[in-house]
Amino acid sequence: MGKTPPIWYQQNSLLLGQASLPLIFFFTGSYVTLWIIPHSEVNVPAADFRIHENLLARTEMLDGVSIRSDVLSTDDNGEQKESVQKRTRKILQKLCPVLQRILLPGETILYAMTARSPLSILEQVTAAWWTALLAACVVVVTNKRLLFLPVKRDGNWRESVRAVHWGDLEEVKAKGLLVRNVTFKFKNGAKSTYTNFRRADAKKLAAIASALLPASSGEQTSAHGPVQLCPDCCGVLTERQYSCVGCGLTFKNEKTMVLRSIFLPAGGYFYTGHPLIAILPAIVETIFLVDVLVILSAGLASPKAAPDLFAALLGLGIFLALENGHHNSPLPPLRS
Ligand SMILES: [Zn+2]
Repeated sequence: MGKTPPIWYQQNSLLLGQASLPLIFFFTGSYVTLWIIPHSEVNVPAADFRIHENLLARTEMLDGVSIRSDVLSTDDNGEQKESVQKRTRKILQKLCPVLQRILLPGETILYAMTARSPLSILEQVTAAWWTALLAACVVVVTNKRLLFLPVKRDGNWRESVRAVHWGDLEEVKAKGLLVRNVTFKFKNGAKSTYTNFRRADAKKLAAIASALLPASSGEQTSAHGPVQLCPDCCGVLTERQYSCVGCGLTFKNEKTMVLRSIFLPAGGYFYTGHPLIAILPAIVETIFLVDVLVILSAGLASPKAAPDLFAALLGLGIFLALENGHHNSPLPPLRS
């Protein structure tokens, strides 16, 4: 059924009747000018932004993702290296299906390298071999962002993404002699140190950062630092909120992990999907608990064993404090 348009609409369409075309042109004209210039030419480094002074930008496709072969297959001086080309492509090939979904329009991959994620206090104190398996990650460098993708031992993705825009980075600093650590300082004041970079990769990352940091300084996001992305819809996740507002995907939560860690030896590792890595801490924790129980029962049987009892309780206190320190950091999003 036909409704008569309200009076104001009739008046407006009468007023605009003659002038509608030039007006639309004028408005869209200024809209386009306002949006296109700041976003693709001034602030965001374009896909063909030059990284090495001696090389022209060369963009091509690799398994459905855009790559910059001039940066991906050269060293920090922009010199072509067969070994670098082989290594970076091998890393990327395992991650291409994921990257196809994560990359933004106009985003191209500059480089990819392996490293280890920041370790928690407990992991640093124990410095055990299993933490290396737990923390393996790939750092993908693009013209817009740095993407940190935890990977399994075979290089396959662990379904978690940490991302930071170049504009939200304050500084990228490499340290160490043979194997390097790289500290990322963010605009929000926070810092993250990733470890075990190849020396050549750390130098390359520093070279890329020296070109991209000044070029993207005006392009800050509201996060001012790194964010976790949903592994399904790639939306930004809120810290300590264990579901995605975009697609409703739920993640494992800290409460369950802490509960499992308390009632099961190494329960936290089992819960977060690291069953193999959980075996050693499970053995250690079991031996420790049995030890404490033996000393406790001995202490109750003879009062002379009081100092031993005290030592055991002190040890237990320190151990639990370290364990809690470990659990205080938010859990990265893991599909539940
Ligand atoms: Zn989602």
